[in-house]
Parts: sequence; C-alpha cells; structure tokens
Amino acid sequence: MILGGVSSSGALPDFAAARHHMVARQIRARGISSPRVLDAMAAVPRHEFVPAAEQASAYSDEALPIGGGQTISQPFMVAAMTDALQLSGTERVLEIGGGCGYQAAVLSLLTQDVVVVELQPALASASRERLARLGYTNVRVEEGDGSLGWPAGAPYDAILVSAAAPAIPPPLIEQLSDNGRLVIPVGGSDQQNLLRIVKRAGGLAQESLCACRFVPLLGRHGWPASVPDAVQGSSAQ
Ligand code: SAH
Repeated sequence: MILGGVSSSGALPDFAAARHHMVARQIRARGISSPRVLDAMAAVPRHEFVPAAEQASAYSDEALPIGGGQTISQPFMVAAMTDALQLSGTERVLEIGGGCGYQAAVLSLLTQDVVVVELQPALASASRERLARLGYTNVRVEEGDGSLGWPAGAPYDAILVSAAAPAIPPPLIEQLSDNGRLVIPVGGSDQQNLLRIVKRAGGLAQESLCACRFVPLLGRHGWPASVPDAVQGSSAQ
C-alpha cells in the first residue's frame, strides 16, 4: 500500500507508484490529455533530479529547491509547458533556464534534439552530468545567458523559457523557425502570464495560456542581476 508515495513498510519510497499517482492526479485530472506528454511525465524519474533532502517530495504538487536559489518547476507546469509546444518528435528544441535538467529530460523523450542554456555554471555542469548518467543522450547543456538564445543551434522549431521574463527577448523570436512555437512566462515580478507565440510568415500569433509564477530570467534581455527580493524569493510553479 502506498501512502503519499512512501511504502507502508517505512522503507524506501515507492517512486514509481508516486510518479504514476502524480500523472493521474496532478496532470491528467487537470486536463493534459496528450498520451505522449503523459507517457513522458510517467517515464522521467523526477526524484533523480532533486537534492537528496527533497527526494521524498519529488512527486508532490509543488516547486522544490534545487540549489543556487533556484527551483524545479511544479510537475503540472512542466507538463503544461511541454504540451503547449505541440511536439511531434522531429523538432529541434531550445530550453532557456535548464536548472536541474528535469524539463529537458521530459522534452528529450518527445523530440529529436534538445539544446539547453543555463546561466549558473554549477547547475549547468551538474545537469549535464545527470542527464548523461541517466541516458538522455539527445540533450546538450550549454552555459550562458539564454536571454540571447543560443544562435549556434538556430533555428529552433520550439523554444521553452523556464524563467520569468519582463518582456519577450527579441533574439528568441529571431531564432524561431517558420511555424516555430515559443512558450514563455512574461510579466511582473510577482506574477506572469504563460504566453505561446507562433511565428508565421506573416508575423506572430500570441495567446495567453494561464497565470504563473517563476523565478526571474536574468541576463541581457531579462531582469537586472540585483532583482528585488520579491522576485528572488518567488518560486517556479
Ligand atoms: N526547468 C528547470 C527549472 C528552471 S528554474 C528544471 O527543470 O529544473 C530557472 C532557471 O533559469 C534557473 O536554473 C536559473 O539559473 C536559470 N536562468 C535564469 N536566467 C537565465 C538566463 N539568462 N539564461 C539561462 N538560464 C537562466
């Protein structure tokens, strides 16, 4: 019997059971119906991506600290952002703000190539090592300011930004392919809107998907490095 993902023997948590519970209760029940996205969320061992002290909470309905003042997003938010990219399996995808690498692992199961840019060197190297150890071979982690995108790999069929931007960084639009999708939280320090922008020959189509709250995107087209406490203290959903 599973109680909150912990086996009744009191021994090791039953991570697989907790993960399936997470997919059913937090993701499918809230309206994500794509079998590909649900399967990917059911496959990636989230507990391998969080610090040891957080492992017992790895499948709970919340963002968790991953070190460096950053967070791994709430599982539902990872699924919703992934779903919004509408990946068919052949795309080249860019993720900005790789953190611990969890979102990148989910993307890697749904598409051909994933390029990740992470600003903090320690997070970049730890996630690179972790993704390699777990066998996610189609992900490349780069260190740098992702508000500039990653021009060397452009164009991208889909770009996902896992941190809150004050406005849409122009380089990300430039690096989108025709029909490319950009999913990005944009707004103030306390709350943002999750936007999906589709680039078409004639211009950009933009829709607002939901309200959200993420840690800040820093860098050239992000927030200044000394952001207000309110922003630093927020957590990715
Ligand atoms: N998707 C991540 C969580 C992201 S938390 C996961 O699955 O763990 C947001 C991340 O964005 C943090 O790791 C932070 O260091 C990073 N970040 C902030 N500004 C950035 C920038 N300009 N370029 C790249 N990464 C940035």
